[in-house]
Amino acid sequence: MFSEKKINLRIPGPTPCPQEVLEAMSGEMIDHRGPEFAQLIQSVTSRLKQVYKTQNDVLILTASGTGAMEAAIVNILSPGDHILTVSIGAFGERFVAIAKTYGAHVHQLQFKWGTAADPDAITRILTRDAQIKAVFVTHNETSTGVTNDLAAISKAVLRYEKLLIVDAISSLGCIDLDTDRWGCDVVASASQKGWMAPPGLAFISMSARAWHAYQRAEMPKIYWDLGKALNFLEKGQTPWTPAVSIFYALDKSLELMLKEGLSNIFERHKRVAQRVRVGLEALGLSLFADKHYASNTVTSVNSPESSELVRELRKKGVVVAGGQGMLEGKIFRIGHMGYVSEADVDECLEALKEVLGRR
Ligand SMILES: *Cc1c(COP(=O)(O)O)cnc(C)c1O
Repeated sequence: MFSEKKINLRIPGPTPCPQEVLEAMSGEMIDHRGPEFAQLIQSVTSRLKQVYKTQNDVLILTASGTGAMEAAIVNILSPGDHILTVSIGAFGERFVAIAKTYGAHVHQLQFKWGTAADPDAITRILTRDAQIKAVFVTHNETSTGVTNDLAAISKAVLRYEKLLIVDAISSLGCIDLDTDRWGCDVVASASQKGWMAPPGLAFISMSARAWHAYQRAEMPKIYWDLGKALNFLEKGQTPWTPAVSIFYALDKSLELMLKEGLSNIFERHKRVAQRVRVGLEALGLSLFADKHYASNTVTSVNSPESSELVRELRKKGVVVAGGQGMLEGKIFRIGHMGYVSEADVDECLEALKEVLGRR
C-alpha cells in the first residue's frame, strides 16, 4: 500500500472504515441482475430508510454526493422554474451552480460563512415570492463546519407548501435528521461521509410530493433519471451497473450502525465534537463557526498559517483538510464523522499541540 504507517484520516470525507467493512469489500463480483444482488439492494435500502427515518423511497446511485445533488435538481425541476437556494458556504453554492447550469431561475439567499441560515429570512422571501417552487438547503455545511437548524427551516418552508430539498451529505447517519417528521421532500447523502463506507454510492430520498414534481419535470436526464431507478429497484436492480463492492461495504456498515443504534451514534458525534472544540481552544486556537451552530461532524479552525499546519500534521500521520473557496489559507478543518472515537481526535489534538509547540 502507500504507507506502512497508520494514517489518522481526519478530513470530512472520505472517512476511515472499520476493518470489517474493508474486508466485506473483498467479496467476489456477482450478477447485478441476479437474485443475490436483488436481496442485497433490498436489504440495504430498507436499512437506509431506517437511518433516514423515512417511509419515502430511497434510491441508491453509483455516484459521489454531487451526483445526488444533480439528480435532485433534474428530477423535480423544469428550465425556468423559480427556486430559492439557501447558502451558508461552498456546498450551498454548488446547488446554485448545478441549478443554473440546467436553466433554473435561482433566487439566492446567502448568509455569512461561519453562520447558520435564519429561518425568518426564508419566510420573508417565501411570503414575497409566490413563484418559488422549491427551497434548497444544506443541512451541514462542510466547508464552514456549521449545522443549520433544519427543523426550524423545514417549518418555514412547509408553511408555504414549497418542496424542500436537503443536502445531508455530511450529516445523515451522524446528526439527527427526521426526514418524514420534518417534511423533507428530497434528501441527498453519500457513502464516504457519515456512513463508514468508501466513496462510490450516493443516496436520495423522494417523497410523494417530489414524485409529483418528477411527473412534470422537464430538465434533461438519463443517468440521473430517478423514475428509472425506482422501476429497477422494484426488480431488485439498478438501471446501470452498480458499484457492487461498495454495496458490500454498506451492507456491513449499516449492520454496525444499527447495532450501535441511531441515538447512540448521534451522542457519540456530539461528545467527540465537543472534545475537539474544547481541545482546540485549550491549545489557544479560535473556532471559525458560530458556536451555537457548530457542527458535530466537522470543526473549522481559524489560522492564517493553516496550509503550513496541514503540511506539518501530515508528516506526523494526521491528515486534516484546509479551507475551501474563500476560506483557503484562512482555516483548517478536522473531520469527525462516521467511524470516529475520542481516541482518534485526541491523537489529532496531540499532534497539533506538538506542531504548534515547535514554532
Ligand atoms: C462532500 C459534500 C458534498 C459533495 O459530495 P461529493 O461526494 O464530493 O460529490 C456536497 N455537500 C456536502 C455538504 C458535502 O459535505
